[in-house]
Amino acid sequence: MEAMTIRQRIEETENTITRICKESGRDRSEVTLIAVSKTKPVSMLEEAYAAGSRDFGENKVQELTEKYEILPKDIRWHMIGHLQRNKVKYLIGKVFLIHSVDSLRLAQEISKESVKKNVTTSILVEVNVAGEQSKFGLFTENEVIELVTQVAALPGIAVKGLMTIAPYVENAENNRQYFRALKQLSVDIMRKNIDNVSMDVLSMGMTGDYEVAVSEGATYVRVGTGIFGERDYTVSV
Ligand SMILES: *Cc1c(COP(=O)(O)O)cnc(C)c1O
Repeated sequence: MEAMTIRQRIEETENTITRICKESGRDRSEVTLIAVSKTKPVSMLEEAYAAGSRDFGENKVQELTEKYEILPKDIRWHMIGHLQRNKVKYLIGKVFLIHSVDSLRLAQEISKESVKKNVTTSILVEVNVAGEQSKFGLFTENEVIELVTQVAALPGIAVKGLMTIAPYVENAENNRQYFRALKQLSVDIMRKNIDNVSMDVLSMGMTGDYEVAVSEGATYVRVGTGIFGERDYTVSV
């Protein structure tokens, strides 16, 4: 069998999202597919761009900013990986949404650099819903709410919602509980009407489990392997 092209994989993924939206009574326009292009060469991103992708996800600051310089400026770049504070300054003004804010110190750095550049940076608070220690991993629900409140009070930052990375599982159904918990947490936070906080964005679901995530309310799904194929971490890009 011929291998599918990037265009075909994107179309298939978009069609699947459309089907799940229909089945779960959701408006298709609520869900955006992020093409997770980490480790992949620019030529592959150009193929995805030609097929209509405008949202790309990267997990390293240097790789994101290098690709940003080369590729068209209407791309929305999503930082989805762990972010070090000393790299924040390179990202601000280029990134559309930072999905991975998990501490006040990181948020303070984003705030500082955003104010310096006179921009507002949109962020999501990353929640470890599948943690062992408590329902929300590193955070209890109250700690998440406290972090959201503190981050929202910083200048130059807009809190748009929550993000989670579910565990790797053979059966995606096993992650439904976590997606549901993240959705519920976002509803609870929304009800608190915290200044400068919207909970419109839920970033959850990857190649193996994005269908379940969409049916539980994801607004962004982050799909890498399903679009670009397996990643090879032994070659540099
Ligand atoms: C790599 C990555 C993805 C994409 O994973 P796939 O299984 O290849 O779809 C999604 N989210 C995050 C945070 C990632 O680091």
